Amino acid sequence: MTSTAKLSTQPQDPAYAIALTQFNAIADKLGLDDGLREWLSLPQRELTTHFPVRMDDGSLKVFKGYRVQHSLARGPAKGGIRYHPRVNLEEVRALAMWMAWKCAVVDLPFGGAKGGVACNPKEMSMAELERMTRRFASEISIFIGPENDIPAPDVNTNAQVMAWIMDTYSMHKGYSVLGVVTGKPLAIGGSQGRDEATGRGTAIIASEVMRRQGGSIDGATVAIQGFGNAGTHAARILSDMGARVIAATDSQGGRYNPRGLNVKRAIAAKRETGQLGNYRDGDAISNDELLEMPCDILIPAALENQITGSNAPRVKAKVIVEAANGPTTPEADEMLNENGVTVVPDILANAGGVIVSYFEWIQGRQHYFWDLAEVQAKLERIMKNAYDEVVAMATTPKVSLREAALMLGVGRVTESIKLRGVYP
Ligand code: GLU
Repeated sequence: MTSTAKLSTQPQDPAYAIALTQFNAIADKLGLDDGLREWLSLPQRELTTHFPVRMDDGSLKVFKGYRVQHSLARGPAKGGIRYHPRVNLEEVRALAMWMAWKCAVVDLPFGGAKGGVACNPKEMSMAELERMTRRFASEISIFIGPENDIPAPDVNTNAQVMAWIMDTYSMHKGYSVLGVVTGKPLAIGGSQGRDEATGRGTAIIASEVMRRQGGSIDGATVAIQGFGNAGTHAARILSDMGARVIAATDSQGGRYNPRGLNVKRAIAAKRETGQLGNYRDGDAISNDELLEMPCDILIPAALENQITGSNAPRVKAKVIVEAANGPTTPEADEMLNENGVTVVPDILANAGGVIVSYFEWIQGRQHYFWDLAEVQAKLERIMKNAYDEVVAMATTPKVSLREAALMLGVGRVTESIKLRGVYP
């Protein structure tokens, strides 16, 4: 294919390499022509900003941030904002592309976007984080809005960060704009059940997989890599469902106890001390050891590029449910497939977050709020329907769940683009 618009043939960031390889394989399967393939492989809009922040010691520090809108064909762009030292434009492009496929797989009327700031929030004070967030929100305010692009929490961002973004945007407008971000605190237009939504969605899928394989989530053993928002809620909800969480780690490592960790105490230790390793139960383990742990279900809930060609052959789990975005490389995917491991892909398994974000956006626009039971029931119905559709898609012809989910997601975006036509 000769291309004028191709961004880079050799992506530097592993997430972008994974996203492009996955997309190209699916474009082949769907028989996309060259023009469509090129269009869908590229972000529609991207913004890079260098912006100053006054630090607590009086010095000025310049940060680099991004907002990428992969596609707006199916509705406003949607996706989180992450704070992490490794954030870069290619990674944000990959995450925005996955958001586009994810929203389409669960059939939300959204396109895909992502944003991020390269920073280490663990070394910043609350006041510095607030000033950085407000300035970043101000820089991207030409891009975001309830009708065009709606941010949400992602790695190292939370309801407080969303509150600052909502407030900054609203101050520019002169009135409160609830629909500009999701994942807000309940007191200012957040939704019941949004905080736990990604973890709950992952747990619902894990339970469905076990049921379909003729087993049960009750008594299943689970290992979780990543003890942030998705990992902790998945651990809590799965253990409420009767699963035994035998191992969990955060970025510093974690704990393993074959009799099952006390999830409530582990979460309290993480919340109070910042490190799961301070929860003294069972044995200390590293992140690498966790991925190779004998268990029924492995849940990667941290960052991209964790299960790779070098550790995939040693993965002993029977099922992988991806709560993180992009944790498995295409090379690892093939190996896992050959070894009979069922992998439920990120764009389905972690869609609970954006589904309840959709509910929050609707509630904010109507100024009419639902109770927790209603949110949970609607979330469960959408997750189970999407899972059934992906499983059906994977049956004829027989493809992996990842290929099926991508075929569904990319196929739906393609259909919208074709129906709308090319402007002008
Ligand atoms: N950051 C989450 C994700 O990767 C949630 C996005 C959203 O709610 O918009 O799916």
